[in-house]
Amino acid sequence: MAARLTPTVGLEIHVRLATGGKLFCSCEFRFGAPPNSLVCPVCLGLPGSLPVLDRQAVSLALRAGVALEATLNPVSEFARKNYFYPDLPRNYQITQYERPLFRGGALDLRGVGGPRVRLSRLHLEEDAGRSLAVPAEEENLAGHSLVDLNRAGTPLLEIVTEPDLQGGDQARFWLQNLLQTLQHCGVCAGKMAEGDLRCDVNVGLDGAGSGPLSETKNLNSFRHVAQAVDHEIERLQGLARNGDRLVPTTRGWDPARRCTTFLRNKEETRDYRYFPEPDLPLLTVPAAEFREEVALLPELPVRRRQRLMEEWHLEEAEARALCRNRSVADFWEEVTVALDREGVAGAGRLAASWVLGPLRDDEVAPADQAGTSYPPPGFVVDLLGLLADSTINSRVARRVLHRWRAGRDTRLPREMVAQEGWGQITDPAVLGGYCDQVLAARDRVVQEYLGGRETVLEYLLGQVLELTRGKGHPGVVRRLLVDKLEQYRP
Ligand SMILES: [Zn+2]
Repeated sequence: MAARLTPTVGLEIHVRLATGGKLFCSCEFRFGAPPNSLVCPVCLGLPGSLPVLDRQAVSLALRAGVALEATLNPVSEFARKNYFYPDLPRNYQITQYERPLFRGGALDLRGVGGPRVRLSRLHLEEDAGRSLAVPAEEENLAGHSLVDLNRAGTPLLEIVTEPDLQGGDQARFWLQNLLQTLQHCGVCAGKMAEGDLRCDVNVGLDGAGSGPLSETKNLNSFRHVAQAVDHEIERLQGLARNGDRLVPTTRGWDPARRCTTFLRNKEETRDYRYFPEPDLPLLTVPAAEFREEVALLPELPVRRRQRLMEEWHLEEAEARALCRNRSVADFWEEVTVALDREGVAGAGRLAASWVLGPLRDDEVAPADQAGTSYPPPGFVVDLLGLLADSTINSRVARRVLHRWRAGRDTRLPREMVAQEGWGQITDPAVLGGYCDQVLAARDRVVQEYLGGRETVLEYLLGQVLELTRGKGHPGVVRRLLVDKLEQYRP
């Protein structure tokens, strides 16, 4: 059997810039607005209308370029890409072609020091509208397509990588890193479900001709990207093993069948007849404007992860999870700094375990908006302070949190705990009494423990805490139980 050829994977990513508007007119854009309600003569492509470039979109694109270490073209150029499709009202798209805003650049695959993925270019372009198939139940319109032009003209940043990736997992990790980076800078809102990031996947085999052998279009979830990459690698390697001729193809993704489907041969690729856009001047970025963007750039997630590990002794997984979303990382940092100021030891890890754990409410906020459902920072600092000085245990802390969530209680945790008498019981004499009560009634479990099944200790601990109505100090109870059980040995 022939040796396996090494896969080479590159991505073309379209990111919607978070301007809330469009690239060449003053329309606003909101996801989910009634169809064709956010349009004007410019984005409808009516004759005589002229595009005017939105500088805010340029500013966000500049920020992205700086974050991705790309090289600015101080003068770049818009171009017309000509093709006919119902969701493209002017019959051409305004994009950048020969002179993009940025060339080059790179972003780490996972974290600082790891392998990097190189970029070849970043450019600005406008999005098209959306075609919607009419559901079969709609008798009058069955078989038709409808067009919604709200999205037409919204600003996209296209980011093209070199073929530096080698598999589906790598592609997914890198894309997640890219989106976190852009979100941290405020370049992109990052709502995948609203199409803020879409991706084309190019797969080739090293040694089997130059350039990609397949391009899978328009993937809008990290999972689908990973699956499409792996599917294409396997398919192409299979063809190569059989000695088949490898013809470059353009493909679609079928999420239900988890496979790519043939759309057309690459050789048939349409000629888009690009030419410079005559209705727009060259895009010039003055050095001062660029320096301003460089100065405004916030700490990037890769650096922040590293700092959280060094400064606050977080595990890598914790730092990574916190930095997945800037508002979560900011919330955690605010709480941690306040706890640390109050002298709480290990504030960073305590806050991390709660911010990533019980404080999250996935029912209220989906994963990409995590952080919007947290209690106010002052409430959390108070709660974790009580935990840290052993006034309450984590069971009671959850109870306080539950009360707050139910909206029945507006008291600070400290008041709630004092007024409800939920303070932790740490007195060994009191807790010892509860332990005796539990052990005396559970002779069989005690014998199991003495017979070597030490896991029943957790059960006994639970029983004692139950008797204290959750107020017993688990550490003290555990120590007492172990001592008392030893006394049962014959
Ligand atoms: Zn418009």
